[in-house]
Amino acid sequence: MVKKVSIGVLAVQGAVSEHITAMTNTLRETNTSGNVFFVNNIDDIKKTDALILPGGESTAISNILYKNGMYEVIKKRINDNNLPIMGTCAGCVILAKELADEDNKVKLLQVMDMQVARNSFGRQRESFEKNIMIEGFSEPYKAVFIRAPTIKRVWGECKVLAKIDKEIIMARQDKFLALSFHPELTDDLRVHKYFLDMIV
Ligand code: GLN
Repeated sequence: MVKKVSIGVLAVQGAVSEHITAMTNTLRETNTSGNVFFVNNIDDIKKTDALILPGGESTAISNILYKNGMYEVIKKRINDNNLPIMGTCAGCVILAKELADEDNKVKLLQVMDMQVARNSFGRQRESFEKNIMIEGFSEPYKAVFIRAPTIKRVWGECKVLAKIDKEIIMARQDKFLALSFHPELTDDLRVHKYFLDMIV
């Protein structure tokens, strides 16, 4: 790698500091020079090399983005093809091109060729952990799900990386990574390392 990498975690709402810690540990463990910082405004978006959209409430996060003008700036960086993004849980919802239900309260960034359903696992299973197999990982990964969405279908260039039964829970399209679980809530850094490999 030739330069220092700057990775921003969108900090308007949700599980932010855990991502900061996980990504900081990932840089350290991989001997990557760089910094991880809170993205609070348009200027922060402009100076980041990659963005993490955390879990939280996709309605709240996307509406705040829209109202404060960050949405437009992120869209421009996406259109210019220079902003890798990892969306986890609510972040996965925001990356989708379509929602399965008519829910126009979420302002989708419409980046990835996938349709997402919110709160897909039902009330009885609002939060749970499960060992999953991820494409390209040699060992199972313990994934934490909290009122998680699922990816109902993918098309075009979007590729499935993990499933639980028939439900798609992780997908990648070019420099965009979507997962319905919370990789920042475990000590396992493999998902953050995977995203880092997509950036550097
Ligand atoms: N259910 C939330 C939503 O759709 C996501 C939950 C989470 O990020 N843990 O916004």
